Amino acid sequence: MSMAACSQCGKPAVVGVGDNPLCVNCLYKFQQAILMRDRMLKEEVNFLIGQMEAVSSIYGLFPRYALPEPVIHQGPMNFHNIKVDSMPKESRSWGILKALVTNIGTQVATTGLAVLWDAIRPMLGL
Ligand SMILES: [Zn+2]
Repeated sequence: MSMAACSQCGKPAVVGVGDNPLCVNCLYKFQQAILMRDRMLKEEVNFLIGQMEAVSSIYGLFPRYALPEPVIHQGPMNFHNIKVDSMPKESRSWGILKALVTNIGTQVATTGLAVLWDAIRPMLGL
């Protein structure tokens, strides 16, 4: 199966945005750009509400946008396909995969989905 290439960098694409296939990294950057623009517009609206209140001396008439702290990821993000069926169980990749699944399982277990983790665990020999 061949995957479409990201229209921005050529890595395997995972999603289409308009007519542009994008990889995980470029999709993330695209979404970050939208969030930054969205935040800027909301800050501007909040500022204008403040100005209206200042000139009218009527406060609290309009609600302000809540602006949570932006989450900024530094460094590249990668998407890898792993062919599990041909992977020897002694290989480094298998070890990494097992560690990854264990980590996911821990997250699942600590967030109240222990039943799901109990179902998955025997399949992995954990
Ligand atoms: Zn890309």
